[in-house]
Amino acid sequence: MKTLIVANWKMNPSTKKEAKKLFDSVRKSTKGIKNIEVVICPPFVYLSLFSGLKLGAQNVFYLSADRQVKKSGAFTGEVSPLMLKDLGVEYVIIGHSESRKYLNETDEVINKKIKESLLIGLKPILCVGETDEEKNSGKKLEVLEVQITQALKGVMKSEAKNIVIAYEPVWAIGTGNNCSVDETMSSILLIRKIISKLYNREIADTTKIIYGGSVDSKNTNSYITQTGVNGLLVGGASLNAEEFIEIIKSL
Ligand code: PEP
Repeated sequence: MKTLIVANWKMNPSTKKEAKKLFDSVRKSTKGIKNIEVVICPPFVYLSLFSGLKLGAQNVFYLSADRQVKKSGAFTGEVSPLMLKDLGVEYVIIGHSESRKYLNETDEVINKKIKESLLIGLKPILCVGETDEEKNSGKKLEVLEVQITQALKGVMKSEAKNIVIAYEPVWAIGTGNNCSVDETMSSILLIRKIISKLYNREIADTTKIIYGGSVDSKNTNSYITQTGVNGLLVGGASLNAEEFIEIIKSL
């Protein structure tokens, strides 16, 4: 299994020029790297400018018809899974804690987005993770169980292999307070147990689970070698070309 390194640029950078410069630096420096799958998730508006590295979107719309994909329609401001697929996008981040918080994305909406993305052939990166409060009140397992079970409701065994789960403790995102190796390892095991309960052991063992939350070039290697993750979701550090390249090269 190739290590998956996903860059989540969030709402950055502010200009097309800066976006192109960042993308090109990463593309040039990662040329020829075979054992790592690098995916760049820029804002929607930059997606069509890029080629030469795998792309992911940071969000997608759902058209609500269960297992029937409406290809387009009257949904002002939204972007469909088909539009992304047509641009050559391979992955889509769904259920990021910032979307849950600022866009009120619910587990039900996340589930619809996942199912429709899978139908079109996009690979969802489902983000899950507990808040500080949930962690301190011993609710981590419950939170992960609800988020994963609800998000994957109705997702068939045959589709599950195309899903990536990103364990992103909310308290670790953008704070510099990254999750410890031991805690990450125990969360990854919990997530595999939840998937095993939902599907089976084989799917649990082969599902790609990545970690996100204040990853940088100094802590990258310990996550990959000591926690059982299959990759990393990198936010802030992916906006600095040198640092992001260092993350990739440290593997
Ligand atoms: C993220 O938002 O997905 C993320 C991992 O951010 P950061 O690396 O900045 O904590």
